[in-house]
Amino acid sequence: MKKRGLVWFKNDLRVHDNEALVTAQKECAELVLCYCIEESWFERHYLGFRRADINRFRFLEQSVLQLRDNLEAIGGHLLIGEKSAVETLPELVEEHGITDIYAEGEYAPYELELVEKVCSKLPEVDFHFFWGKTLYHIDDIPFEISKIPLTSKAYRIPVGRQTQVRDVFDVPKKLNGVKDVKSSSFPDCKVYGFTRKEYKDSRPLVDGGEDAALERLEYYTFKSELLTKYRWSRNGSKGMDYSSKLSPWLALGCISVREIYFKVKEYEEKIKKNQSTWWLVFELVWRDYFTFKGMRMGVPMFLTKGFKNRKVEWENDPKKFDRWCDGTTGIPFVDAHMRQLNATGFMSNRGRVNCSSYLVHDLKIDLTWGAAYFESKLIDYDVSSNWMNWHMQAFEIWYTNPVHQSNKYKAQDFIREWVPELSKLDDVEVLIPWEFEAKKYVKPIEVYPKWSRAINLIKKIAEPKK
Ligand SMILES: Cc1cc2nc3c(=O)[nH]c(=O)nc-3n(C[C@H](O)[C@H](O)[C@H](O)COP(=O)(O)OP(=O)(O)OC[C@H]3O[C@@H](n4cnc5c(N)ncnc54)[C@H](O)[C@@H]3O)c2cc1C
Repeated sequence: MKKRGLVWFKNDLRVHDNEALVTAQKECAELVLCYCIEESWFERHYLGFRRADINRFRFLEQSVLQLRDNLEAIGGHLLIGEKSAVETLPELVEEHGITDIYAEGEYAPYELELVEKVCSKLPEVDFHFFWGKTLYHIDDIPFEISKIPLTSKAYRIPVGRQTQVRDVFDVPKKLNGVKDVKSSSFPDCKVYGFTRKEYKDSRPLVDGGEDAALERLEYYTFKSELLTKYRWSRNGSKGMDYSSKLSPWLALGCISVREIYFKVKEYEEKIKKNQSTWWLVFELVWRDYFTFKGMRMGVPMFLTKGFKNRKVEWENDPKKFDRWCDGTTGIPFVDAHMRQLNATGFMSNRGRVNCSSYLVHDLKIDLTWGAAYFESKLIDYDVSSNWMNWHMQAFEIWYTNPVHQSNKYKAQDFIREWVPELSKLDDVEVLIPWEFEAKKYVKPIEVYPKWSRAINLIKKIAEPKK
């Protein structure tokens, strides 16, 4: 009997380097292609905000619609399920006589649970899962998941020496879509409780979808050659050029991490190989490491005490938390980043380090509150990258001083851009406005004695050089 397959797209919203799609096309006489939206993604967290907010909805919509276009260009049609995969997939199996389902393998607890539920509802169907999230394939790394090292170096060095990155899969030339199936449209935002106004006002930092992702990769490498400077620019916060900005597309799989790797290798051959090209790959390996370590740690990664089982006396003042969320703490470096996150769904790595450290170590608020808020807002939300980084900021690395860092990374223009109340202040005042009684801007929640040295250093910017 000839197989009738269904490709279940999840966080692999692309036609390039997609093993599930390529294999399904090879093995099946006819294919149904499907993406399902889970209502639970947009439910409210117990702290009040949505688990995934409007910028994430919008970015997802753009990415899924672009996938639909790219599938149609090679003869496929994408069905977009308004309801959970647990309901939609059994309906499609029944309607189209599906024998086999092809999909990317999952790694995080909630996503694995969903897959299990779908599998248990369809015992007669053969499921085929393919690993696609990381640079190094899970079957190729020299560690079992239960033995992933606890430090990144102990992971990175053996993996780099012993593991090769697998080749990418080509885009299928032609898909054998089931004939009478036509693509569907993306559900209205109202289905998930968003208002039209919220939708219209949403402004994700970048457009979702595979084409925009591949364009950005080309721009960041061969077109602009910004990659050559990445090692020295990567701690910036202002504008588009200081880092690759590939994370939103990576999160939904609009781009494959191997595609990025091979582009960097080509760049090294044709343009330049330096510390920057090495560093970008190093960051992709960090992403892998957090994925595998997150798999090892499992559910405790989401808990207040973390997988280190730490007891911390959190103060958890809800008013302070609200001020942190809104970007009205009175600390310009933190507020500018939080306002950018709220408006665009993106924040630089420097911003994330400072805002998380400030929440946990200065405001003494539970890391899971902050991580959940980031999850709600970040268009590049990725389970392990988010929760493992929060864990690291709370329990594994030193305190980061946001006043000192605003000076070290010369954040004046970035702050003036995102905190209009401070837009007219000079380079000293804008970093420590409370020292000058800036009237339009909120007073800080607290100015800590441990910041005194950093404050004095900033004041010296204004002194004439001897
Ligand atoms: C508290 C906190 C939460 C974070 N949450 C997320 C998240 O939900 N999703 C996410 O993709 N990244 C997260 N990061 C990591 C990092 O901040 C972003 O990956 C990065 O800012 C994305 O911008 P970029 O693509 O321009 O990165 P680049 O500097 O250009 O780096 C290239 C790629 O490397 C990977 N990468 C870089 N730094 C890290 C890192 N520290 N951890 C894991 N991967 C990294 C990303 O995939 C990134 O796209 C978080 C960091 C912190 C401190």
